[in-house]
Amino acid sequence: MTSFSLRQVKLRPGEQYRDELEVELSPLDFGGQRYMPVPEQARAAFEMTRANTGTVFTLAFTARLHGPCYRCLGDAVLEVPIRAREYQAESPQDEQMTTPYVTGANLDVSQWAHDAVALGLPDKILCRPDCAGLCGECGKNLNDEPHTHDEEHGDPRWAALEALRELQ
Ligand SMILES: [Zn+2]
Ligand SMILES: [Zn+2]
Repeated sequence: MTSFSLRQVKLRPGEQYRDELEVELSPLDFGGQRYMPVPEQARAAFEMTRANTGTVFTLAFTARLHGPCYRCLGDAVLEVPIRAREYQAESPQDEQMTTPYVTGANLDVSQWAHDAVALGLPDKILCRPDCAGLCGECGKNLNDEPHTHDEEHGDPRWAALEALRELQ
């Protein structure tokens, strides 16, 4: 997993440090399904800006996820653009002024990136925006085989039964 040692950067207020990080991403569980980052590493633009009372961290990258489509369970590929921001107060009396991703002098970039991707996911992950999904009647993929079931005149065997019923 990717972490960043804060010891390697000494900033004075107003100064900024920029770097490119290869961030290792972990699989994401979402809606009972598992989505794999492909590739497993994302190239991220990382910035640290020193303010008077603390440090602002930003991380920007695009995650690509592979997993099942919510509607048809076919392969879905999803690009999630991320721009995340965290703040760490210099004297962290107030817990709200500290980021959970800094422990000691270490920034847990992978965990931060993982959470940012989870927050950046759409409501539904689809193979394509207009995915037709699976047929509620027969379970076939409606993208591959667009069809409807006509309950009145669908199956000739039922039609025969209907005819018998009408005779009664
Ligand atoms: Zn689909
Ligand atoms: Zn069907």
